Amino acid sequence: MKLIVTGGAGFIGGNFVHYMLQEHPGDQIICLDKLTYAGNLSTLADVMDHPNFQFVKMDICDRDSVYGLFEKEKPDVVINFAAESHVDRSIENPEIFLQTNIIGTSVLMDACRKYGIQRYHQVSTDEVYGDLPLDRPDLFFTEETPIHTSSPYSSSKSGADLLVMAYYRTYGLPVTISRCSNNYGPYHFPEKLIPLMIINALHDRPLPVYGDGLNVRDWLYVEDHCRAIDLIIRKGKVGEVYNVGGHNEMRNIDIVKLICQELGKPESLITHVTDRKGHDRRYAIDPEKIHRELGWLPETKFADGIKKTIQWYLTHQKWWEDIISGEYQNYYQKMYENK
Ligand code: NAD
Repeated sequence: MKLIVTGGAGFIGGNFVHYMLQEHPGDQIICLDKLTYAGNLSTLADVMDHPNFQFVKMDICDRDSVYGLFEKEKPDVVINFAAESHVDRSIENPEIFLQTNIIGTSVLMDACRKYGIQRYHQVSTDEVYGDLPLDRPDLFFTEETPIHTSSPYSSSKSGADLLVMAYYRTYGLPVTISRCSNNYGPYHFPEKLIPLMIINALHDRPLPVYGDGLNVRDWLYVEDHCRAIDLIIRKGKVGEVYNVGGHNEMRNIDIVKLICQELGKPESLITHVTDRKGHDRRYAIDPEKIHRELGWLPETKFADGIKKTIQWYLTHQKWWEDIISGEYQNYYQKMYENK
């Protein structure tokens, strides 16, 4: 099989490339990535010379280049991870989110229609469902939960999902969508909660927690997400949405305390900063459908996954040091140090 994986220099896409080359060494993978601030070629350094891997620097919104690549490579499957993915950045500047997440998705699907593919898979998020109240632990997002978004990020991802289903219904494009909960693991960009806290704790720097820190997220080890997508593209039903989640709900503050404990750092490093605008309270996925139809279950317990993740950041210092030494400094000061 020949796959185009967009956004493969980012967190989940990068993990997916590694996962696929390991699990399906006979498949060919073409990684298409614009290399925005969130894309790092160092994430792919160890596979660059793999005979079945190819990297192409390209913007998914650039129709001519995307068509040219499809015409040349004739992929069987396209998996779209490429996105602007950070909620805080979407609050600062929504426009690029609309451009990449919606227009980019339509360009990719137009290329799929024009050149023919077996499957287009859209990597989406549980954030399209909005949030759940903290006092109703019995409620979960199912695939039937209405779309009800809070941030420009989640709205742009919802727009893309609606477009994907429209291309299925209107043009018969063979699509699938996965909506996953929060991922954690190796190669996670340092602006996101878990790597941010690990890196700050290692430097004995303040650990900035939004608001009261009681917001709940459902955390999934990234490799479990990769396995779910691999199953969906091979065995999932065309035209279907699959929720992917770990049944592992944690309050932000408890994750930060756990990281302090694992690294032997005092909880006094925790500081509470002004809450994110429109901050969702609780996300919780019901992954029953993917379990029932495809036999998927998360394999990594959070207690093990967080240890592995911390260990990875300890042994891959160069990877994150290179990232946090550049432009990222300005972003960090704006977001956390002036609050
Ligand atoms: P990321 O920000 O780490 O990576 C995004 C990648 O896309 C980067 O390599 C970037 O260079 C690339 N990219 C951005 N704009 C592009 C463009 N116009 N053309 C080509 N490439 C472009 O994101 P992530 O956390 O790995 O998320 C990947 C996907 O999974 C996203 O679609 C996101 O919405 C979804 N998702 C993420 C999570 C999570 O917890 N991180 C959870 C559920 C779903």
